[in-house]
Amino acid sequence: MSNKEAPAPASNFLRNIIERDLEQGTYAQRRWAGEPGAAAVHVTSDADPAKIRTRFPPEPNGYLHVGHAKSICLNFGLARDYGGVCHMRFDDTNPEKEEQEYVDSILDAVQWLGFGWHAHGRGHLYYASNYFDFMYAAAEALIQAGHAYVDEQSADDMRANRGDFTTPGTNSPWRDRPVAENLQRFREMREGKHADGAMVLRAKIDMASPNINLRDPALYRIKRATHHNTGDAWCIYPMYTYAHPSEDALENITHSICTLEFEDQRPFYDWLLERLAEVNLLAKPLPHQYEFARLNLTYIITSKRKLKQLVDEQHVDGWDDPRMPTIVGLRRRGYTPEAIRLFCDRTGASKANSWIDLSVLEATLREDLEGRAARAMAVIKPLKLVITNFEGEPVACSAPAHPQKPELGTRHFQFSRELWIEAEDFMELPEKGYHRLYPPHTNAAGEAVPGNKVRLKYGFVVECTGFKKDEAGNITEVHATYFPDSKSGTPGADTYKVKGVITWVSRTDAVAAEVRLYDRLFLEAHPDAGGRDFLSVINPKSKQVVTAYLEPSLATAKPDDKFQFERIGYFVADRKDHTAEKPVFNMAVGLKDSWGR
Ligand code: ATP
Ligand code: MG
Repeated sequence: MSNKEAPAPASNFLRNIIERDLEQGTYAQRRWAGEPGAAAVHVTSDADPAKIRTRFPPEPNGYLHVGHAKSICLNFGLARDYGGVCHMRFDDTNPEKEEQEYVDSILDAVQWLGFGWHAHGRGHLYYASNYFDFMYAAAEALIQAGHAYVDEQSADDMRANRGDFTTPGTNSPWRDRPVAENLQRFREMREGKHADGAMVLRAKIDMASPNINLRDPALYRIKRATHHNTGDAWCIYPMYTYAHPSEDALENITHSICTLEFEDQRPFYDWLLERLAEVNLLAKPLPHQYEFARLNLTYIITSKRKLKQLVDEQHVDGWDDPRMPTIVGLRRRGYTPEAIRLFCDRTGASKANSWIDLSVLEATLREDLEGRAARAMAVIKPLKLVITNFEGEPVACSAPAHPQKPELGTRHFQFSRELWIEAEDFMELPEKGYHRLYPPHTNAAGEAVPGNKVRLKYGFVVECTGFKKDEAGNITEVHATYFPDSKSGTPGADTYKVKGVITWVSRTDAVAAEVRLYDRLFLEAHPDAGGRDFLSVINPKSKQVVTAYLEPSLATAKPDDKFQFERIGYFVADRKDHTAEKPVFNMAVGLKDSWGR
């Protein structure tokens, strides 16, 4: 399969900002020591070879999902398009919840999506926990400059004194303690002299600020927890809002892109970096935070906690269940990196929250696979068709692997006395407009209707002559006669005019396979809207497993190979369970959008 040329991404406000910064040379004077560091490290170095620096900063506390893909495509994509570098950074400042399994899966997902962090002769894979020394030193510097204090109020008092949207906060009784005392206390916190939660280090800004985030936010807390990287070296940990701006600054990030929830944090982001620049810990120009609307997709849940619940309570078969919106799930479903990137580019970056319909994502996969997936016939709900006038050896038939791509070659399969067709391609009594197989019968007006003729695609024209039923009334086989001079591609074959063309496989060479038919995991477009329990709207038919019969060309499929099953949809050989002996295919997406109908 060849990569499709990605169309030029649509312009968006972030591109406009970057283009303006490049034009004005906002970041042209920056220096870069070759690795992250404080001002002293960078100032004596050469000019930064990266025109801009962005970063993708996940917390390694879960599997990435399609929303993260959006952030990845945006950050890595902007760096790629503007001569920059995107840093892969693990925001691992919270000692709990973080695991190596997640670190590995995140790195794998980013690479699978087609991005990397290697540039200018080195990797840009960073761990925020490596900056703990800087963060601690910066906190002491803030204390010394009179910008931070140790608060010993109880958590309850602190909360009560913060005020709310309508009421200003109240100053802590500890707010004006002398610098020396703050420093001593903070060092005691670090040395483990105080209990967890006994006190916190807070920024000294403005308890009456209309922005609650500026009402003396906490910078450090005491927490005795073993960290996956730093072990037990620390019993105090920086708060996310304090850590994140520092991480960006140490890494020379120019455009720090995050989702809209962080808009109210931007004043603190700027406040902190300005204060640290004043004491020469950071060099200007400082990074700037920009917010965009997070990706919201209908029929999908992106909360890590809820996704974990789906896995833990076995509503799905693991993080990589093809119904999951995780990158590993999408991949197993048959999504390609190209389709996901196309989707992310197409949905752009906006300042306003909105919902994107899941069909938009599905359409990009269809669009990507249409041009490159080999075709094959498959019968998903098999019904036996007996060609009563056929005798002897099977007849060889063939078809192009792709109608527009002769270079993909030819498929070969047999036509014989016993075939499989889709159960829905036969009706005992046809409804109006039904052009597939039906037997001779008398219609509602009392007229005799002959059995219908259809073309078996790439094979022969057949005429339905009858059928068999079991005692329960189920159709067990359909009978037809074929016209030996109607074989597709032979002279005169097109003198047969039929309205219906159906797909089929021959019992003599069909491959039996497990086919997993997937549908949306939720019945409602907004599964967790209005506080509804999302488990109550799980689609009970989101997974159906059938035994299907496949054209023999599919016998050589390898895990991850994608095909169009003609008339049905796109399918992928399951990357975990598919083997030549026991083929397993997953339905990726139908040929048409059946939900929008
Ligand atoms: P948590 O609640 O655990 O913080 P999170 O979804 O914010 O979950 P992170 O690991 O912090 O997860 O996210 C990494 C990056 O991905 C962040 O920059 C975040 O803004 C971005 N991101 C997460 N979800 C979306 C989304 N739905 N659309 C766009 N970006 C997203
Ligand atoms: Mg987060």
